[in-house]
Amino acid sequence: MEAFEGLILKQINFKESSKILYIYTEKGQMSLLVHGAKKLSSPFLNLTQNLTLIKFYATGKALKTLTDGEILTDYRKIKTDLEKFTYVQHLMEIINYFSESEYDHQKLYTFLKKILSHIENETHYIRYVYMFELKYLYLLGVAPNFNVCSACGVTDNLQFAVKDGGYACKIHATANSGVSHASVAVMKQIYYHDLKTVLDLKPDPDIRREIRLFLDEYYLYHLNFTSKSRTILSGLLGY
Ligand SMILES: [Zn+2]
Repeated sequence: MEAFEGLILKQINFKESSKILYIYTEKGQMSLLVHGAKKLSSPFLNLTQNLTLIKFYATGKALKTLTDGEILTDYRKIKTDLEKFTYVQHLMEIINYFSESEYDHQKLYTFLKKILSHIENETHYIRYVYMFELKYLYLLGVAPNFNVCSACGVTDNLQFAVKDGGYACKIHATANSGVSHASVAVMKQIYYHDLKTVLDLKPDPDIRREIRLFLDEYYLYHLNFTSKSRTILSGLLGY
């Protein structure tokens, strides 16, 4: 029997009364079969909710089976706030979608727990959602270039656009227009922020909106990704 810790990202029904959970751990995503999880008499009813951090024991080789476990954090303050919950679902969809990608899972796992704690406990939490999305682009090897023209390294007269992977000079820019300087400055600060220090930044609604649309377009253009939660979010946000 092995011990694990992880965050439940999603789940599917399996046979009549069982479930398979997709759990993100410090070694990457794993699948976990939970026998009888859908029965009301299951001792694991609370343990098998999405967005729950659990410690658990499992047996088996290819598909592991849950034998016992406990909840470490249930993120109640996120689950009871529809907007927060939808934003976090969006992040969980991203992690699940790219779960086969090769990157430092231990690093991401630790970072994810810190991000969720900020989202849960802070009023101005959207900057932490953006922080996750921006830094995740780095892990996937497609981070926007925030400093120089991606093509020639020039540092003057730059325009920041999705198609150009961030900054490009007048000669190398292929996009007709770019993101406002104010939004780029906010994204740059968020992208380079170290969570050990205080994030002194509260972007106004126009900038939040512009960054949201930039990130959506960036994930779509460079990674061919869009989430189901993003559609729900647009119903809540109006964009
Ligand atoms: Zn250039």
